[in-house]
Amino acid sequence: EAKAQGGNTWQWHGGDDIPEVGEHVALRRELQEAIHSDQFEVYYQPIVDSVTGRLRSIEALIRWHHPTHGLVSPGRFIPLAEKTGQIVAIGQWVLRRACRDMAALQAAGGSALPVAVNISPLQFRRAGFLDNVKAVLEDTGLPPARLELEVTEGMLMTGTRQAIERLTALRALGVQVAIDDFGTGFSSLAYLRQLPINKIKLDRSFIHDLTTNRDNAAIVQGIITMAHHLNLVVVAEGVETRELQEELMRRHCDLLQGFFFSRPVCLAELEALPDRLPAAQDLILPPGGMGD
Ligand code: C2E
Ligand code: MG
Ligand code: MG
Ligand code: MG
Repeated sequence: EAKAQGGNTWQWHGGDDIPEVGEHVALRRELQEAIHSDQFEVYYQPIVDSVTGRLRSIEALIRWHHPTHGLVSPGRFIPLAEKTGQIVAIGQWVLRRACRDMAALQAAGGSALPVAVNISPLQFRRAGFLDNVKAVLEDTGLPPARLELEVTEGMLMTGTRQAIERLTALRALGVQVAIDDFGTGFSSLAYLRQLPINKIKLDRSFIHDLTTNRDNAAIVQGIITMAHHLNLVVVAEGVETRELQEELMRRHCDLLQGFFFSRPVCLAELEALPDRLPAAQDLILPPGGMGD
């Protein structure tokens, strides 16, 4: 275990806690090492149509194959990488890898679905961000419409003018923009209306108890209804059960993402997924059919 290695590495607490302050120096050094020795991998999680269960897009999620700790999830290292600035290099790597993987998949006759890449505030605010996105699209040959960037409410609330300009420039490239973890910040849909975005992703914290928590159900329904009036596509994250799938379908949530359909998988497994995932008690009646 980590302790046996003395001061040579950061300690492993397990769970989802981010490492403690004393461990930051070691983690920072190990992240640097990880960047240079190819320890990161991108996993992909399907996002499906709420009614038909068909694959509609894919979210790219980073994983770290740590030499001694094994597979480390982003909750453990993204917050620190954000503090040290290493997120910029890491984020650029993810963007390039995801675009490259998706272009290759399509070239091999596979999926031509859009891929969503998470963008950190620091990465988004950097002067070179737009040029980097352009360069990656050119180098990988991925059509811009197949790239979607996931940004959070928080990063749009500070420096709003500049954020709007940047989003507008991205949209002009043909790239899609989604607001991730929607509902956890303080922004309103009235505010979002000013932004050139396509999609909002409802945070998992509103979804998991949707069928039993009337407050959350009301919030979710309100957001879906208003978002549709603003021509925004709504995605629910954290859909873990058929019950939730049915509830969200009834509430006209457009797209669903969650363990009920598939966990994030490596590229090879993604290629093997059928384009219609387990789901969908089809509400659409077949032509001429009346159900039962
Ligand atoms: P996120 O962007 O909101 O991504 C969704 C997270 O929810 C993923 O966790 C995914 O595995 C998890 N998830 C999906 N469906 C379910 C479900 O049904 N139940 C539960 N309990 N969880 C579900 P993951 O991969 O651990 O990523 C956590 C967060 O780390 C992401 O949240 C995102 O904020 C950040 N992240 C991941 N990859 C990157 C990246 O490449 N760059 C940046 N900047 N952040 C990233
Ligand atoms: Mg995301
Ligand atoms: Mg999210
Ligand atoms: Mg989330």
